[in-house]
Amino acid sequence: MKDLEKYIRNIPDFPKPGIQFKDITPLLKAPKILNQSVEMLIEPFLKKEVTAVAGMEARGFIFGALAAHKLNTSFIPLRKPDKLPYDVKQTSYDLEYGSASLEIHTDAAGANDNVLLVDDLIATGGTAAASCKLIEELGAKIVGCAFIIELDFLNGREKLDKYDIHSLIHY
Ligand code: AMP
Repeated sequence: MKDLEKYIRNIPDFPKPGIQFKDITPLLKAPKILNQSVEMLIEPFLKKEVTAVAGMEARGFIFGALAAHKLNTSFIPLRKPDKLPYDVKQTSYDLEYGSASLEIHTDAAGANDNVLLVDDLIATGGTAAASCKLIEELGAKIVGCAFIIELDFLNGREKLDKYDIHSLIHY
């Protein structure tokens, strides 16, 4: 879809100097394009018997839930610490500066699950790699990772080289 890039707004120096923030809210305002992008996001995984889509807080919830709805699967939220109310598993990972943590409910997935991980954007790949690790620690299989946007120059794919990675737009 050659038009998709038009719906991604670049915000220079947000949230801090030097970052080119890729704002997906224009895409959220265009229902037809949004629908097509979600279809393209899941297309390579249609025959993979996906049982659940996992999405990371916060924009992964939007695209992940849309993908889960289209695939008719369950949705697994991965959240920042102290947000999930039940028993959790936690992992920490490095960011460009400092570190962050993500949590998953211990009963979110299990050995019978084939999970597709979805987020709006892959940058260094740290968030996605940590998410895959948590899901695998619950015994589930990762069938792939799908992103609307990939920042190629940050080589995030290298952290996910054992998985099938699919991105719609590359910068
Ligand atoms: P990373 O762990 O470095 O791959 O970062 C990915 C996460 O940070 C995703 O959840 C993105 O939503 C967010 N993110 C990182 N860089 C950007 C950016 N330039 N524009 C928008 N979101 C970003």
